[in-house]
Amino acid sequence: MTDSASSRARQTRIVHPDLELAPGFESFATPVMRASTVVFPDLAAVRGADWRNDAQWRYGLHATPTSAALMQRLAQIEGGKHALLQPSGLSAISNVYFGLVKAGDDVLIPDNVYSPNRELGNWLAHDFGLSVRYYDPMVGAGIADLIQPNTRLIWIEAPGSVTMEVPDVPAIAAAARARKVVTAIDNTYSAGLAFRPLEHGVDISVQALTKYQSGGSDVLMGATITASDELHHALKLARMRMGIGVSVDDCSLVLRSLPSVKARFEAHDRSALALAHWLKARPEISAVLHPALPDCPGHAEFMRDFSGAGGLFSVIFDERYSASQVDAFVEALELFAIGWSWGGAHSLAMPYDIASMRSASRWPHRGILVRFYVGLEEETDLRDDIERAMGLALR
Ligand SMILES: *Cc1c(COP(=O)(O)O)cnc(C)c1O
Repeated sequence: MTDSASSRARQTRIVHPDLELAPGFESFATPVMRASTVVFPDLAAVRGADWRNDAQWRYGLHATPTSAALMQRLAQIEGGKHALLQPSGLSAISNVYFGLVKAGDDVLIPDNVYSPNRELGNWLAHDFGLSVRYYDPMVGAGIADLIQPNTRLIWIEAPGSVTMEVPDVPAIAAAARARKVVTAIDNTYSAGLAFRPLEHGVDISVQALTKYQSGGSDVLMGATITASDELHHALKLARMRMGIGVSVDDCSLVLRSLPSVKARFEAHDRSALALAHWLKARPEISAVLHPALPDCPGHAEFMRDFSGAGGLFSVIFDERYSASQVDAFVEALELFAIGWSWGGAHSLAMPYDIASMRSASRWPHRGILVRFYVGLEEETDLRDDIERAMGLALR
């Protein structure tokens, strides 16, 4: 303790403590380093600060060692160079728009896109002068014909998280690159584990860490991952200007779940695939939209590009069942809860009216679609639950 420190009032010493913590502590946990203010050693450090330099600390909203640890690990998982964290998957999507496009630019969006991305794109088109066009997710190399001189960004989703079409990502990415159009993929479905878009020529991978990476149905977070310095800086600048950041307490929860994400993803994958095969043989079901099953558009692309599927798939009920019968089926399920989001331990089910969600492609099915998310319950219990609910609701 310095002399000046020991003569200070007790209140000042509460604010400026003189701690003597023993060195040599180690644990597996990433320390939770909270900050709004980040303290600079001197004014030269303040004046020499460069917002592009991720190795410099500036302000808690931008990064602390806790959030930086998560960003580095996410970049590693997807084979990228940089990652940024946003407070939700949807804000990661909006970070891409605000970082890359301006009034007058054109954006191409797949017709099966995550609905809030569609909502955001339509809002930016309606109120902020963007051009937004929707394309058939199975367009493949045909995307080249849709690219205009003002096309700046092409969104990809693989597969669409409700209707499960798997696009030809390398073909879309190659066509975009040939015309210097940036591609961004919503890669939440694969958690960055089962599909590696940066290796297929995509520029930016977006993750809703809310899903598998958090794994507990209790954290909201998103990420953008890229190998490009230029794109990273464009996204980082927009993120700073918008004033968005994440809680490092939330980061520590995701860091805690990350070592088990692959094991959980594979467990979800096994149960979901077994259930999908079982449902395919049921007379109540007219189609099973699981990319590993041949019914699913993009099955060949899935087998070529993906190493697994996780817990999400959809079924189409036979058209003899009304919407209210299918609603009754969903409400009769006991182990499948009704709710948005996925990636946690609990199974979920939700009916969707797909025809009303499309504008650029034809939806071929007439029966009602129900999306299942298969959690970590024993698969045979989930099967029994579905069978029992069918017996109650579909008579
Ligand atoms: C959940 C989800 C998002 C958004 O994540 P939030 O954290 O809930 O905002 C984005 N894309 C897909 C495909 C999702 O499933």
